[in-house]
Amino acid sequence: MSEHSPAAVMPARVRVFFALWPGAATAAALHARARALHAQCGGRVMRRDTIHLTLAFLGDVAMPRLAALETVAQSVRGERFILELDRVGSWRGNRILWAGSANVPAALPALAEKLGASLHAAGFELEARAFNPHVTLVRNAVRSPPRGEMPGLRWPVASFVLVASERDEGGAHYRVLGRWPLDDGGD
Ligand code: ATP
Ligand code: MG
Repeated sequence: MSEHSPAAVMPARVRVFFALWPGAATAAALHARARALHAQCGGRVMRRDTIHLTLAFLGDVAMPRLAALETVAQSVRGERFILELDRVGSWRGNRILWAGSANVPAALPALAEKLGASLHAAGFELEARAFNPHVTLVRNAVRSPPRGEMPGLRWPVASFVLVASERDEGGAHYRVLGRWPLDDGGD
């Protein structure tokens, strides 16, 4: 094998997860909230192009298994929904500040569960951890956020994505590998 063959430079494994990825307007609105929280609480604000909601985290997967992940995604049917983000919360243990919903539409956990079950059936290992829908806005916060509500923000969700998480000195960078539509419920 020559020193410059692709196999020598391509990573054999990739860190991946399924997520909801906001459109430009929702990402901009969430990023504005993130900056406001960051101004109050310090820490590290998420960049606008990294804001997401994780549906299923797979961790390191061998490159040849990516096709199987795409097959799973293709097989999963879900309904479109509006996610109303109206809560700010924090996890003291890891000092994350997140946006969440007081009224999670049933279609969201239903999508995460279907995805989880199909991934499991296809031989992928997932953590048994309960699905806890949230959008991380700030990491390593040094102060707690003011408790509770934030002005409601409507995120129209019409697809889900498979994302590769790649690291460098600047932290994690995300690359969308594929996107699958949700059904519009026939209206
Ligand atoms: P970094 O870990 O470099 O600070 P990150 O947490 O954004 O960055 P990843 O660790 O690759 O990047 O995680 C990608 C997404 O998956 C994030 O939304 C993260 O919260 C979520 N995630 C990571 N590990 C798990 C896990 N074990 N279970 C569920 N979700 C996870
Ligand atoms: Mg992480």
